[in-house]
Amino acid sequence: MGEPVKVPLVGLNEQNKPLAVELRDAFERVLDSSQFILGPEVIEFESLAAESIGARHAIGTSSGTDALLLSLMTLGIGPGDEVLCPSFTFFATAGAIARIGAIPVFVDSIDTDFNIDLDDAERRITGKTKAIIPVHLFGQAADMNGVQRLAKAHGLAVLEDAAQSMGATFDGQQVGTMGDLSAFSFFPSKNLGGFGDGGMITTDHDDLAKRARILRVHGGAPQYYHKAIGGNFRMDPLHAALLGVKLGHLPGYLARRRANAEQYLERLAKFNHVVEGRLMLPTEIENSGHTWNQFTLRVANGKRDTLQEHLATNNIGSAIYYPVPLHQQECFAHLPNFGESLPVCEKMAEEVLSIPVYPELTEEQICHVVDTLANAPL
Ligand SMILES: *Cc1c(COP(=O)(O)O)cnc(C)c1O
Repeated sequence: MGEPVKVPLVGLNEQNKPLAVELRDAFERVLDSSQFILGPEVIEFESLAAESIGARHAIGTSSGTDALLLSLMTLGIGPGDEVLCPSFTFFATAGAIARIGAIPVFVDSIDTDFNIDLDDAERRITGKTKAIIPVHLFGQAADMNGVQRLAKAHGLAVLEDAAQSMGATFDGQQVGTMGDLSAFSFFPSKNLGGFGDGGMITTDHDDLAKRARILRVHGGAPQYYHKAIGGNFRMDPLHAALLGVKLGHLPGYLARRRANAEQYLERLAKFNHVVEGRLMLPTEIENSGHTWNQFTLRVANGKRDTLQEHLATNNIGSAIYYPVPLHQQECFAHLPNFGESLPVCEKMAEEVLSIPVYPELTEEQICHVVDTLANAPL
């Protein structure tokens, strides 16, 4: 018997090690330059990233969370304003809305692709609704045709939360090009995984880009003269240089995520627990280019935790994104729709389990995951 096969949830080392020489060169370049705040490295990365996404402007930020916060500030959202967002998402989506004093209005999701339910969103629009944040969850775009229709009909700004889905498309258009503003994250486990916290805003609007750049440096324009209150939301030049090394590899990473997901879908589809509905596979929506940032199963009959233990026993990492929908989070107890019933996302929170799908998975690792799922006590 050889070593047991191990499959961690993410494999950062496998991705970064082959780039070690280029990454060290980038570090030395920044070290020699002594430019540690903004400057040419950030500008260069922003221009490459804008080109890769097909947006007019890209603005590097200190994190994906700050990209959301800065975007809302740029749109002029403030106290009393209502912003629609899915309840089933990472906390930062709603946290950013609440931090500027606006009201997150939580919307249920749709069963097929984990994304925002636009019929439910429309029912929640009031005279105070100023914006909608569609989240492209787990690597797949939300229905942006529907979002645009709603936004037009009700005069809402659109902020795409593309943190998990750089490179994903909807109807052939990349995420990050369809909203008024879009927020990306370079958290290490995202599609373009960085070396610490980092994020980015994209937009096609010159005026919004200009305003975001001013608010990124405390709102001073010129420096020390403030017509607006901003913050420090800057991307580090060192991080920009390191991310620049990886950006060109993004299409390759996404192709391998897709190949892994296709392997899973093909091989798992024949299992009895899948055929009989006890284990549900993720679906790729027609006309959407999924980037498979997560491969998220659903486990029926209260067996999710049993499956997670079974995977752990067999050295396979997994995670629950997300165990508690945001309309049930204690910190939002003061909000109008706290504790209301959002049945689809509540069910998802009980059933979801994400398994390893990172680009560098080997055939042996995929086989081990497939075999372990085949033997799962479901
Ligand atoms: C990761 C993530 C964020 C926040 O990004 P950070 O870079 O970690 O601050 C925001 N929204 C969603 C949906 C995310 O997955």
